[in-house]
Amino acid sequence: MLAVARPADGTPHGARTAPTLPEGPPGDRARDPPGRGTGPPRAPAQGSPPEPRSGRPARGRPSNQGAPGRRAVRVYRVTAKRIFTPTRIPGARFVVNQYVGCEHACSYCYARFTCRWRRDRGPWGTWVEAKVNAPDLVRGRPVRGRVVMSSVSDAYQPVERELELTRRVLEAMDRAVELSILTKSDLVLRDVDLLSEFPRLEVGLTVNGLEGRAARLLEPLAPGHGRRVEALEGLRAAGLRTFAFVSPVIPGLVDPAAVMEEVAPLVDFFYVEFINARAAGSGFRRILTREFPESAEVVYDGFRFREYVRRTAAEVRGTGLMVREVVTHLRGRRGGGRQTSLPLG
Ligand code: SF4
Repeated sequence: MLAVARPADGTPHGARTAPTLPEGPPGDRARDPPGRGTGPPRAPAQGSPPEPRSGRPARGRPSNQGAPGRRAVRVYRVTAKRIFTPTRIPGARFVVNQYVGCEHACSYCYARFTCRWRRDRGPWGTWVEAKVNAPDLVRGRPVRGRVVMSSVSDAYQPVERELELTRRVLEAMDRAVELSILTKSDLVLRDVDLLSEFPRLEVGLTVNGLEGRAARLLEPLAPGHGRRVEALEGLRAAGLRTFAFVSPVIPGLVDPAAVMEEVAPLVDFFYVEFINARAAGSGFRRILTREFPESAEVVYDGFRFREYVRRTAAEVRGTGLMVREVVTHLRGRRGGGRQTSLPLG
């Protein structure tokens, strides 16, 4: 049986009773509060050329996980014809993607393949499309059915700090909408005042306990685990309905039951998703095989992975916590779970 890596203190994934600020140099974003942007959003310009920007605000790095130096991110300002897109995500009717592309650049991200027709933009994580007219498309549009934000990006990726596009979409949105937001970023706390105006809202953080080398390799520019837990704490303190999306579950690297126990006091329910090796692609396979060979041996061996999923899903159920869905991505009736991808973030 493959053991899940645990830190030296013996606690799973650095589980702790009190949140700690991640380490970083003075002024690092890891220490900055997720406040509003420093300036007004720039004027929308249809068809404007890509605008190179640093993935790092002047005052710090975009990640608390030792992300390598500055990273140029090209922002394409585009206009869209519609913003509520019908979806096959279970339980949802529409997705809202005010951004396409994501600076968090997770190596396993499934969204890169849904955006493959944008290959001319460059490698995943180096470009973002901002639908600058998204607030106008939302305004005055009552929507029936659950709306998910977002499916091909993270609504609170770093560029949002400057553009405030997600915030303006929320400002324009009908407050009666049944809205589900999923993110990896504590920037969501900036909008707590606005989120509190939606009575049918739920906000989720993707949590998986990845830290150190695994986090740097798999989620190089996303906020670290500690900041995500702090985001859940802040949302909870504001009285919002919250959930944790425990994903991706990777053998030897992620212990979903331990993560669930850690954040259980902060959420109303969970989703759990096992890694979708096929959708994660060859880049992820290379990283996993090179850096975590024991994990790769299980993930890419159909029989062993199926056994791992069966055993781990039983552990998840054994927590007794409220799990809305376990997504295994296994094919066939004995897979025991949905194959449909859930929203990203
Ligand atoms: S945060 Fe979500 S959308 Fe962004 S790169 Fe990571 S998995 Fe993809």
